[in-house]
Amino acid sequence: MDFSIDKEAFERLERVRQLGRTHIRPLGIEADRLGRPVPPEHDYFKLLLANGLGRTRWVPPEQAAQRESKPGSAKSDGKPTVGASRIGIHIAEEQAYWDRGVSTATPGPGMSEPALISMGTADQKQRFLGPFVNPDKPRWGSFAMTEPGAGSDVSAIRTSCVKDGAHWMLNGEKSFAGNASRADWILVWATVDASLGRAGHRAFLVEKGMPGLGNFQIEKKMGIKGYESTSFTLQDCRVPAANLLGGEGHYASRAGFKGAMKTFNAIRPGIAANAVGIGRAALDEALAFAREHERLHDPRVRDRLERIARKLRMARLLTLRAAWLADHELPNMVESSMCKALAPTVAYEAASLGMELLGAVGGRGDHLIEKLFRDVKAMDIVEGTGQIQRIVMARNLVNLPNDTAGA
Ligand SMILES: Cc1cc2nc3c(=O)[nH]c(=O)nc-3n(C[C@H](O)[C@H](O)[C@H](O)COP(=O)(O)OP(=O)(O)OC[C@H]3O[C@@H](n4cnc5c(N)ncnc54)[C@H](O)[C@@H]3O)c2cc1C
Repeated sequence: MDFSIDKEAFERLERVRQLGRTHIRPLGIEADRLGRPVPPEHDYFKLLLANGLGRTRWVPPEQAAQRESKPGSAKSDGKPTVGASRIGIHIAEEQAYWDRGVSTATPGPGMSEPALISMGTADQKQRFLGPFVNPDKPRWGSFAMTEPGAGSDVSAIRTSCVKDGAHWMLNGEKSFAGNASRADWILVWATVDASLGRAGHRAFLVEKGMPGLGNFQIEKKMGIKGYESTSFTLQDCRVPAANLLGGEGHYASRAGFKGAMKTFNAIRPGIAANAVGIGRAALDEALAFAREHERLHDPRVRDRLERIARKLRMARLLTLRAAWLADHELPNMVESSMCKALAPTVAYEAASLGMELLGAVGGRGDHLIEKLFRDVKAMDIVEGTGQIQRIVMARNLVNLPNDTAGA
């Protein structure tokens, strides 16, 4: 397995590192202090666009045809460039190293992108990902599965969708959807019949301004405050049938739910990479504090710092392995779950050790390690909690089928 990245990717990583120092970390600290996300009109987002960020990984057919001749490049079906997941992992780690909240505020189609690429019709990819190819301004997409009564058990969603001629009527409540109030569109998961469980699921591209979509409320969070996690409602929201992700044929089997699962398998290594980034930041801060306060002569302190460094490296390698499998279009469900289960616990250990070293300084709440300690918790929760990942892996170990999810 080759985890190396090419020169172009290395340069992208270097640009992220520079932005991290100058913008990502300072904005993250400011958002944390003010208790609000970076506003969508902030110049930082325009700067990201100028740096080639905030774009989709989807390749439009006309560009794909041009690139196809180059070895290791995109295919005409619009799938991203080979190696894209691995590069994404390095970028996700580096961004979260500087601030995970601000990195999640980065414009782009976000969590919905893998579902749109794998399930979307050609028309939907053009309409909803097309504007992210060379965006004229910062644009966001959002993903809304979770509801006040449905988190880990996604089969419990109650947002209803009823066919109404050439439209669908959506009614329900969603919570914790990243970047939702600033998004051009939200991929909303609903059900035709809650008693059918996952077989009843349908996904819709609900566009900004559609009548019935509203009541956006930015949630209060303990950490990662740089981006918005938002609840909203759908009240008799009429969505054109053309916005049903994948078209009706897609849902004749259990493909709808499988589409959501594919999305999570694609995203989980990114969350694991975020956790490694937060853990690395906590380790660096802990080392700096221990050095400054002359604690490094104590072998117990050195031993604990080394243990964290070792575990973070293990978590990174496992994460890269999951991404490598995705790059080669090989099944990666177990590896995705493994890195998602492992990395947040290691990052938590790093932040926790940092807090212990800080002692009373940590209790004051104005040291970066204290912020990282609050930021890291969400890495265990989002996109399938640690417990859920362990259930998935244990079922797989004994050859039981796996339908467990969690956005
Ligand atoms: C910061 C943040 C961002 C988020 N972003 C998004 C987003 O963009 N889009 C979106 O749709 N959702 C998002 N979510 C929601 C997230 O996916 C859910 O919080 C997550 O799936 C867990 O669901 P829950 O909070 O309802 O907890 P619950 O499912 O109620 O779980 C509570 C606890 O019980 C445990 N548990 C649950 N079921 C089992 C079981 N069968 N066996 C053992 N233990 C179990 C869980 O591990 C957890 O510890 C976000 C959440 C947060 C905190």
